[in-house]
Amino acid sequence: MPLFVVHEHHASRLHFDFRLEMEGILKSWAVPKGPSMNPADKRLAIMVDDHALDYGSFEGIIPEGNYGAGTVVIWDRGEFELLRGGIGEGRMEFSLRGKKLKGAFAMARMSGKEKEWLLIKKRDSFAEDGFNMKTVLSPSLLKKFRGEDRNS
Ligand code: MN
Repeated sequence: MPLFVVHEHHASRLHFDFRLEMEGILKSWAVPKGPSMNPADKRLAIMVDDHALDYGSFEGIIPEGNYGAGTVVIWDRGEFELLRGGIGEGRMEFSLRGKKLKGAFAMARMSGKEKEWLLIKKRDSFAEDGFNMKTVLSPSLLKKFRGEDRNS
């Protein structure tokens, strides 16, 4: 089963990078608000550069002066199954088996756009209408990577 990973990326702006293993690389989208388990949320997902497969286990600090400088932690990770469609078709459905993201999702490229997609949870038994991103951020991990918990 191919891998999906969501990086929580504290760069100049906090965003989430949603990555799907396809054809040996990680297809990647920057999701400013992060993915949602609420089918009512349509999350903008901007296609960004492909990443190597081994980046799917990366956590750490990208030094100042480099592209994406900031702290990266894995927000969620697991296997996924492509159910239908594909990137070339501009729409796809897949099932995620992560710790936070579960069940069926749809992604569709916005009409007339090259890189802008929408990521939407499909209604199923895993859907959470009350999903709130604020409750699932990982401040303790962030502190650890920044060394702020050295004295605690
Ligand atoms: Mn990023």
